Amino acid sequence: MLTAQQKPYNQKLNNCLLRKKDITLVVKREDLLHEHISGNKFRKLYYNVIEAREKGYDKLLTFGGAYSNHIAATAAAGNELGIKTIGVIRGDELGKNLEKTLEKNPTLGFAVSQGMQLHFVSRKAYRQKNGPEFITNLFQLFGKFYLVPEGGTNELAVKGTEEILTPEDDSFDFICSAVGTGGTISGLINAAKSHQKVLGFPALKEQFLHQNIAKYTQSNNWELIRAYHFGGFAKIDKKLVDFINMVNSLHNLPLDPIYTGKMLFGIIDLIKKDYFPKGSKILAIHTGGLQGKAGMNIRLKEKRLPLLKS
Ligand SMILES: *Cc1c(COP(=O)(O)O)cnc(C)c1O
Repeated sequence: MLTAQQKPYNQKLNNCLLRKKDITLVVKREDLLHEHISGNKFRKLYYNVIEAREKGYDKLLTFGGAYSNHIAATAAAGNELGIKTIGVIRGDELGKNLEKTLEKNPTLGFAVSQGMQLHFVSRKAYRQKNGPEFITNLFQLFGKFYLVPEGGTNELAVKGTEEILTPEDDSFDFICSAVGTGGTISGLINAAKSHQKVLGFPALKEQFLHQNIAKYTQSNNWELIRAYHFGGFAKIDKKLVDFINMVNSLHNLPLDPIYTGKMLFGIIDLIKKDYFPKGSKILAIHTGGLQGKAGMNIRLKEKRLPLLKS
């Protein structure tokens, strides 16, 4: 079983915008659950590793991009529990000079340090990763394994993310979360009370999300706000970097550049535009992902943009 290192707590933010608009904004610090299995990835792996153990698997296999929070989290979970892990990574060019890749890429370097075995595939092959041929090929290569989907989303993952909200959160009117595959927001939707509305801030431009979420949920108390992906997955600009650094120094709240930074930027912008009624109480979920800052800083440096401060 995965063990949390620190209990998440609700951090109330305070500034003149919030006072002026009469809005309560609180951040649930799920990022503190575990140093290396952060936030929603801890929640999503929790019941999956129990299932893998119970069914007698000694190996987890999963998929991800080169900077994936899910890859880092799965590697750390495997290390902690003594289960082997295999990461199928998008981009076969990365495997050509592994030493250099690991040196340059903090996420993959970390995954290997946790004992994860990396298997690089071309972008074209990666797109077929849910097809039967691709999976059969992986079974031939690695033998029996417990398969965790990309981003970690399945029924058991949603069951885990249903545990993010606690009874003390009943007083909030809005629950906000960053969205990737939609697993995390599905759990929040299932756990939210009928008077609460769940707002999702997709980090990707893609449109398939609605179906994904509908697959795991029944209620209609949710909405996706698509205006804050900053051009697409892992895209970033100076405005976002400055915002993340400002929040860090003003509120002592570290945000990641792929998910939580964009979500909070969106929430603040919506508050400025009077999206939320006066007196609203908003709970924003900090889903973690801070390991992604180091990799982003390497790319920001190459682009000569300001860096994310730690
Ligand atoms: C993976 C991730 C998400 C997206 O979660 P989904 O369940 O795939 O929607 C959000 N925030 C952070 C920090 C993540 O690492």
